Amino acid sequence: MTFDSLGLAAPILQAVAATGYTEPTPVQARVIPEALAGRDLMVSAQTGSGKTAAFMLPALQRLTVPHAAHGRGPRVLVLVPTRELSAQVTKAAETYGRAIARLRTVSIVGGMPYPAQNRLLQMGVDILVATPGRLLDQMQSGRVDLARLEVLVLDEADRMLDMGFKDDLDAIVARVPASRQTLLFSATLDPAIVKLAGAMLREPSRIEMQTARTRHDHIEQRLHLADDQGHKNRLLDHLLRDTGVNQAIVFTATKRSADEVALDLHAKGFAAAALHGDMNQGARTRTLQALHRGRLRVLVATDVAARGIDVHGVSHVINYDLPRQAEDYVHRIGRTGRAGRSGTAISLVNAREHAQVRVIERFTAQAIPVTVIEGLEPRVRSFAKPAGPSRRPPGRSSGRPSGKPAGRSFRQGR
Ligand code: AMP
Repeated sequence: MTFDSLGLAAPILQAVAATGYTEPTPVQARVIPEALAGRDLMVSAQTGSGKTAAFMLPALQRLTVPHAAHGRGPRVLVLVPTRELSAQVTKAAETYGRAIARLRTVSIVGGMPYPAQNRLLQMGVDILVATPGRLLDQMQSGRVDLARLEVLVLDEADRMLDMGFKDDLDAIVARVPASRQTLLFSATLDPAIVKLAGAMLREPSRIEMQTARTRHDHIEQRLHLADDQGHKNRLLDHLLRDTGVNQAIVFTATKRSADEVALDLHAKGFAAAALHGDMNQGARTRTLQALHRGRLRVLVATDVAARGIDVHGVSHVINYDLPRQAEDYVHRIGRTGRAGRSGTAISLVNAREHAQVRVIERFTAQAIPVTVIEGLEPRVRSFAKPAGPSRRPPGRSSGRPSGKPAGRSFRQGR
């Protein structure tokens, strides 16, 4: 399939050709024709699947013709959970919209100084990319007029719900024209998302992507058992010395441990830095730029801060701490294996995190093999199996897709 067959207008096809994409990704092939037909859509697609272009290209198509009504308000609004994702979506809008005359894309996110934001809004906007909280602030002070809105996109809707944006989303959606088209994207279409879609979308088509990429078959996953934090540090040091690691993102559970691990790695001579929500926007932007430019080899980050990072050089994701939510595991490992490349995701797991491995395996329906590094073997060779009548073996848990790997006993690979 080619992009030409999807029904996109010439200026958009021209911009897509300039990016070097030769064919649409599966989510783009499914979403673009339906979105161009004007339908509301609820789509499950992982980050890395090409979902941004899947909603941005048809949204841009509307902007190739002038709006009937004059005004300065946006015609396309993309709501995103984080600043990083906002930056990425804004960049995509500019890239794919570069052949459209006088297109203005503005990003409105929390943490950005108001005066600069207010000036941007005054100049008029076609595409507004925003985090819900700050957008609502700006709407309440009368700086954003959504009367001309044609397309509303909810990107990573599951994450927006997780981050407590439900009320803000309700308040924003209540103030956009009912005639709009709404496109909702989420990693999974779980009941909370379907309920949200029921309230905000009109007779939506449901598109669920189940491709190798969403199953992360292109990402090799493995785990190492660790006795304690000192052991985790030694494993991390060893893993990062591997020349096969081009760039890595190391995930920690807290901002504090992100700082500690980054400092420790820096002291050991790695080009490493932390990224988390306590850093100011300037520091975050500089760190991300260093990662993009390859000056930083190891980024130590928390979940929220690393959300949406799209750096093709990231060959490895290392979970220094396991995430609390299985969804976050999927988002984390999706930071590698970008744009058709393969990647490696390694988890360092101590006894306390053991049960969480099973939760993650059940969620992804994929077993994560345990591996051992010679000289860095754990003292405890396997974790005890869960005991007691209340614990069902994972293979019999409800809701697990059939035919997928069942939970395995937690033993070492060799
Ligand atoms: P996303 O899932 O939107 O975060 O996109 C993941 C990555 O895939 C981004 O780096 C895009 O630039 C890239 N990408 C999007 N569409 C295509 C395509 N049709 N062919 C190749 N790469 C693509």
